[in-house]
Amino acid sequence: MCNMLDNEKYDLVIVGAGVVGLAHAYLASLAGLKVAVIEANSAPFMASIRNFGFVTVTGQQRGHFYNLCMRTRNIWADIAQKHNLKVLHQGLYMAARRPEAEGVIEAFLKTEMGEKCRILKPSETDIPFTAKIKSVLYSPHEIRVESREALPFLINILKNEMGVKFFFNSPVLSITNGKAYTNNGAIKYANAVVCPGDNLNGLYSELIASLGIKKCKLQMMRLENPGFKFKGAIMSDLGLTRYLGYSELPEAEALRKKLQKEQAEHLKEGIHLIAVQSSDGSLVVGDSHDYQNPDAPFSHDYIDDLILDEYSHVIGAPPPIRERWTGTYATAANRLYLDDTPEENVKLIIVTCGAGASSAFGIAEENLINMELL
Ligand SMILES: Cc1cc2nc3c(=O)[nH]c(=O)nc-3n(C[C@H](O)[C@H](O)[C@H](O)COP(=O)(O)OP(=O)(O)OC[C@H]3O[C@@H](n4cnc5c(N)ncnc54)[C@H](O)[C@@H]3O)c2cc1C
Repeated sequence: MCNMLDNEKYDLVIVGAGVVGLAHAYLASLAGLKVAVIEANSAPFMASIRNFGFVTVTGQQRGHFYNLCMRTRNIWADIAQKHNLKVLHQGLYMAARRPEAEGVIEAFLKTEMGEKCRILKPSETDIPFTAKIKSVLYSPHEIRVESREALPFLINILKNEMGVKFFFNSPVLSITNGKAYTNNGAIKYANAVVCPGDNLNGLYSELIASLGIKKCKLQMMRLENPGFKFKGAIMSDLGLTRYLGYSELPEAEALRKKLQKEQAEHLKEGIHLIAVQSSDGSLVVGDSHDYQNPDAPFSHDYIDDLILDEYSHVIGAPPPIRERWTGTYATAANRLYLDDTPEENVKLIIVTCGAGASSAFGIAEENLINMELL
């Protein structure tokens, strides 16, 4: 007989307390299910708290994924309203400094994804863009939360207001036949969802490897308060060739060619600009993408310099750096997220496109409906 961590049998056991696991816990608990979350660490320390907290709709891949992100944005907004979770930004300012970037934005606005978005002159934005910025795509859809505060906040609501049970410091070593086995004992489940993020060497590692899911590493910085207020998140030309909602438009090809000539080093390091602001005025600015050595623990100054170079073209001289960190997430060439059933009543969900904060609730809702739990 194995040691039990808890004697309850849960309707739903969730492995992983990142944003994807917590989104499942929130929606399942709202539907009245008895839910437990098992987390390897003492708190969520991985991608979900290292990100920008930027819930992005505009720029996500047209169609199904875009809709999942819009649903996610609405659920985040609903949680914020019901529970007083602080929303720091509303909207996105995508600053174009090349005619080719303006071409992508104009094409984007002609699609259904452009609904409620519009082009502004830089002077109409209240953001002191440099003179190089020709025009700005404004989207009202995006919101931003401070992830390192929002996740503990959500855990607190789940635990204290919604009755979700949490087991921290309990890596799940195997999960089968209605029991999740941790190093501290087992827990019984009727259904389970495994949301391991980029822990690719743990549960279902063979399946994950066979599907070509890998990791990438990002560099991030916090800059001191620049002395003005951002109303929304800021992005630039480089983002128009990374986010599929823009980059899959035919007009993106001309921009890609131009960037290849003018910013080849930025493209090589997978750099694009996202700049968002926190309550104290400081900025979270990034990022880069290293697909070759994602486990290497070191970050590189020249990559931060390239990110700040892009910042200086768009917003001007960057304020001093206060903090630096790296983060990793799961990535795959041909899928945005994995939704698999590795065994009976167990689902494996991994977001593989670096947009988990933007898609988690939509994906969780879809998955729980497929499992016939909603
Ligand atoms: C620097 C950076 C910036 C980003 N910016 C954004 C952004 O602005 N907007 C956006 O939408 N997305 C962004 N992303 C992507 C987003 O953060 C991820 O897609 C998302 O956090 C993935 O969530 P997750 O819950 O799947 O994974 P994670 O956050 O990695 O959580 C997985 C959890 O599962 C636990 N776990 C794993 N295996 C086990 C096990 N066997 N037993 C128990 N626990 C286990 C881990 O300890 C971990 O806490 C960014 C990512 C990074 C790294």
